[in-house]
Amino acid sequence: MKELKERILKEGKAVDEEVLKVDSFLNHKVDPKLMQAIGRDFAGHFKDQGITKVVTIESSGIAPALMTAFEMQIPMVILKKHPSRILNDDLLQTEVMSYTTKIGYELSLSSHQIGESDHVLIVDDFLANGEAVTGAMRLMRMAGATIAGLGIVIEKSYQPGRDKIVSQGVPVYSLARIRHMEKDRIEFYPDEEE
Ligand code: 5GP
Repeated sequence: MKELKERILKEGKAVDEEVLKVDSFLNHKVDPKLMQAIGRDFAGHFKDQGITKVVTIESSGIAPALMTAFEMQIPMVILKKHPSRILNDDLLQTEVMSYTTKIGYELSLSSHQIGESDHVLIVDDFLANGEAVTGAMRLMRMAGATIAGLGIVIEKSYQPGRDKIVSQGVPVYSLARIRHMEKDRIEFYPDEEE
């Protein structure tokens, strides 16, 4: 997605080969117009597949996922990372290792929100080692739902996430695929190879 890649080049900060900061439009301050364009792109790519819900992981996946759900006119479900006293009825939980903190956390879903009749699209901001989305996929299977695919805003293609997911037969559609990154340098795959 040309507009997204331009924003990454202009405003993104490649800290090192592992971490890209995009705090000025995705992870901290959020650009609603860009989120709308992202939502339209995902909705167009995954249209006519019988998707019933968009699923994301709090917190940075919420903005692109909500706009995708809005475009598709279906609900969005947020998988919770933090324990809550009120979200305690029929919880499905799975352990995930955080990319940014390197600390494990329990990803949670109330079984009332997703079930056997659901065919879901999982949307997240980054795909790196694929831990977060693998946890989300495990929860979907625990809930009895099927998975149409993954919509990723920024994929670091040189990290293992994509292969991990694709080898499970789940399609991955990413809007910006980074081929190589080092401090202050970002290189994308061209759009036609995506
Ligand atoms: P994974 O589980 O695929 O290793 O990492 C995915 C999660 O880690 C994303 O949901 C995102 O929150 C975070 N993450 C991974 N790589 C980056 C990065 O380069 N920059 C930022 N800001 N977050 C990242």
